[in-house]
Amino acid sequence: MIRVALAGNPNCGKTTLFNILTGSSAHVGNWPGVTVDKKTGIYKKLDEQMEIVDLPGIYSLSPYTPEEIVSRNFILDEHPDVVINVVDATNLERNLYLTTQLLEINVPVVIALNMSDLVRKNGDKLDSKILKDKLGVEVVEISALRGDGLSELMNAALKASSAHREGKTLLKDKDLMHLVKDISIAFEGKAVENPLFHAVKLVENDELETKAHPDLLWMVDKFKQTFSDDTFGDDFEALIADARYKYIAKEFSTVVTKKDVSNGKNETKSDRIDKVLTHRIWGLPIFIAIMFFIFHFTFSEDLLFMGKMGLSIENPGLINFFTGMGYEGEALEGIPSLGVWLQSWMGWFTGQFISGFQWICSGFKEFGDVAAEAASSTWYGSLICDGVLAGLDSVCSFIPQIMLLFLFIAIMEDTGYMARIAFILDRAFRKFGLSGKAFIPMLTGFGCSVPGIMATRTIENEVEKNRTIRLMTCFSCGAKAPIWALLAAVATACGFGYADIFVFTIYIGGIALAIILAIFMRVFTKDRYTSPFIMELPQYHLPQARNVAAHLWEKLKHYVYKAATILTASLIVIWFLKTFGIENGSFCMVEDIDNSLIGYIGMVLKYVFYPCGWAINADGWKYAAASVTGLVAKEDVVGTMAVLFNGGAEDTLAESIHTLTASGIYSFAVFNLLTFPCMAAIATARAEQTRIEFLKTLAFWFGVSYVGSAAVYWVGTLYEVAWWGGLIVTLALAAGVVTSGILVTRKTKKA
Ligand code: GDP
Ligand code: MG
Repeated sequence: MIRVALAGNPNCGKTTLFNILTGSSAHVGNWPGVTVDKKTGIYKKLDEQMEIVDLPGIYSLSPYTPEEIVSRNFILDEHPDVVINVVDATNLERNLYLTTQLLEINVPVVIALNMSDLVRKNGDKLDSKILKDKLGVEVVEISALRGDGLSELMNAALKASSAHREGKTLLKDKDLMHLVKDISIAFEGKAVENPLFHAVKLVENDELETKAHPDLLWMVDKFKQTFSDDTFGDDFEALIADARYKYIAKEFSTVVTKKDVSNGKNETKSDRIDKVLTHRIWGLPIFIAIMFFIFHFTFSEDLLFMGKMGLSIENPGLINFFTGMGYEGEALEGIPSLGVWLQSWMGWFTGQFISGFQWICSGFKEFGDVAAEAASSTWYGSLICDGVLAGLDSVCSFIPQIMLLFLFIAIMEDTGYMARIAFILDRAFRKFGLSGKAFIPMLTGFGCSVPGIMATRTIENEVEKNRTIRLMTCFSCGAKAPIWALLAAVATACGFGYADIFVFTIYIGGIALAIILAIFMRVFTKDRYTSPFIMELPQYHLPQARNVAAHLWEKLKHYVYKAATILTASLIVIWFLKTFGIENGSFCMVEDIDNSLIGYIGMVLKYVFYPCGWAINADGWKYAAASVTGLVAKEDVVGTMAVLFNGGAEDTLAESIHTLTASGIYSFAVFNLLTFPCMAAIATARAEQTRIEFLKTLAFWFGVSYVGSAAVYWVGTLYEVAWWGGLIVTLALAAGVVTSGILVTRKTKKA
């Protein structure tokens, strides 16, 4: 099989190309660091099958970042048959810098001149022939996004792969080239592969090269004594970089001809949108507003703010029917949002499904309550209906709502807005020593903490990396979304309302907390370093149905798979612990859940979590038990609650969980947000950290969630009792945060 490597700058469209060639749905992120590892897939449209390898995005082949090392080692050591160098035609000169280095390696290269659609749309002209003539390799204009030019590209790659290509440098300086030549002859003598590439890198004083071949350094040193450049002195790295850029600027300035630069209106639509969305002052409030509307649209019971304006619908029969709420004649305080509609339809559907099973397990008694009761009295009916299905029902009934939430997140990513968020946050918080480099893994954590923690590999500074891993839990992952959806429904059922604001504050509050914690962590460490953050903002484009659908499909598959495996298994265990116990001195199926095995375990846990508030009341042990099962998978929190609360047939789960106060709901949410993530994420953190740092991370997760949850409960309760008391405490806390903020700003300035 022919192996094809995709190499190029971050954001040049490698992953988009990879996905369309291989039919996979790897994550197309708009930021560097998303593809830290290489991914592989198969292209099958030609006679010969081709294995495609998506390498991490890089600006050069110097070994400064983990991405550069992964890509460089792959091309040098694993001998791909051909390298497709993906070049973003809208940023040609910068992209070609990498090309000049790739060409120095003895490997067939084909250039994919990507984003040709954008060049044309901007009204510019593209002439790829100049490139082809000067570089001596095949150049194919493509648009990975629209799928143009792909078969030409792959045919060219297939053809190139069968011939040997000798590395070639575009550097012209005569004296320097003599040196490079001498060294590459010496390398050849040592039977080193790719002598030209290594020779240039050795002259550049590349760290890996000087370590690997210290015996040849004298040649460079000797040359340095006779040579000095006016601008660069003997900094050959800078000298060579400059030579590359000069060459590119001289030879290739005519490849892309800009439409009309003379009138100064060379601004693209993207630039104009960015003037608003990344505005210095409005950028952050706009982001917060967008987030609010997403949650409003997904979770609100009152889409049009009617209740808040004192309006109501007197005769909502038809509306109730459409929204899946049944024909209840009561006046409606508002029209529920799409997410709530979908959720109630799904709940109705899974409810019927369970009733069907109850009917079968009862030996076909009367459909409904009678069958339900009869089913529960047998052990298998109880296991299937009250254990596994009740748990899965509550988790699955939130699927449509959560898919809607992910639809919005996928659209924000695909259009290019998510990259702007990292940029906006970086700009707002750099003063406090927080870098966009750390925000990116955290934003990834909104999907899942596992890739989020993996993405911290791009942070070179160990202290900053460990800190980012610890703060990952502040960013609510997808598996936690059912918990918020359930608690939002509980808030509605308890009459607190504002389900949308509740979920919104969990997400935004999580980001705010991460920032505050990061500031505190800096106050107490000596570290002053903030990673530089360079990122390009890709041009905005309309969300592509294919990308968004692929993303959602991936999520849905993952969800269903998890429900069928881990969740089902843990629900069986929970059912067992709940059904059996000690009653009247013997081990049996218990009447009273308090006597069950999980009842005993829960009683112990209840006292552990007593200070957190939500564990205080009679049902407190159930919350405690649910939080612990969340360690296996976060959806288990909801599943366990469903099994343990097991309300009457008419009550929904949310209606049977009515024992919490508003501050209780919040503090339970805060605990579950911040505490240990699931096993998979914990294992990933272990893999990324040393043992000591990992133990500190575990302690941090538990400590912050425990203290945070307790603080929310007690301050919240204080508000409920005497608002001014709560206000005083809040102001005191805010003063602490501001003081630390000032301290850190000073520290950062000094650095
Ligand atoms: P990677 O970092 O090289 O893997 O780049 P991605 O595949 O993640 O793409 C970066 C951004 O460029 C995404 O927003 C893509 O949708 C967009 N993109 C990729 N190829 C094209 C293209 O041919 N035309 C246009 N207009 N956008 C593209
Ligand atoms: Mg990529």
